[in-house]
Amino acid sequence: VKDDRIAHISSTIRVIPDFPKPGIMFQDITTMLLDPVAFKDSIDLFVERYKDKDISVVAGVEARGFIFGPPIALAIGAKFVPMRKPNKLPGAVISEEYSLEYGTDIMEMHVGAVEVGERTLVIDDLIATGGTLVAAINLLERVGANVVECACVIELPDLKGRDRLGDKPLFVLFSRY
Ligand code: AMP
Repeated sequence: VKDDRIAHISSTIRVIPDFPKPGIMFQDITTMLLDPVAFKDSIDLFVERYKDKDISVVAGVEARGFIFGPPIALAIGAKFVPMRKPNKLPGAVISEEYSLEYGTDIMEMHVGAVEVGERTLVIDDLIATGGTLVAAINLLERVGANVVECACVIELPDLKGRDRLGDKPLFVLFSRY
C-alpha cells in the first residue's frame, strides 16, 4: 500500500541476519511493538481496509498472528480465532499438516470456532514461502469458512509465497527484498 505511515512502520522492524539459522534475514517485529505509534498505525491500516467488509472472523496464526489479530478483530467487531501449534488447544481440534523447508509441521484450530460461510480474514506477521498461510486457509475452508483475504505486515517477494496462495487475495503493508 502507499501510505505515509508505512515508512515509519518499516523503519521500526529490525533485521537480524542468520537467525534462527544461517542465511535467514529475520524480520523482528518486536522492535515495532516498542513504538506505540508504529504499532497503532499498523493496526489502523488493517482496520481501515477491513472495517466495512462484513468480516466476522479474524484468524491469527501462532505466534505473531496473535499480536496483530486481536486488536484488528476488536476494532472491526469480529471474533478472533487462534490457529495453533499442535497439542496446545484443549478442545476438539481439526489439524492440517504442512511442509516446511526441512520436515513438516501441524496447525490446529478448535472445531466449532467458525461457522459455515463466515467471512474470514487470516492474519500473520510475515509471508515467506506461503506454506503457513496455505495451511491456515485449508483448515478454515475444511470447516466451511469463506476466507476472503490474507494479510501480513511484511512480504518477502523473492520467495514467491504469493503464488502459492493461487487466486486468494493477499494484502501486505510492505515488502522486503
Ligand atoms: P512461510 O510459511 O514460509 O510463509 O513462513 C511464514 C512464517 O514463518 C510466519 O509465521 C513468519 O513469522 C515466519 N517467518 C518466515 N521467515 C521469516 C523471516 N525471515 N523473518 C521473520 N519471520 C519469518
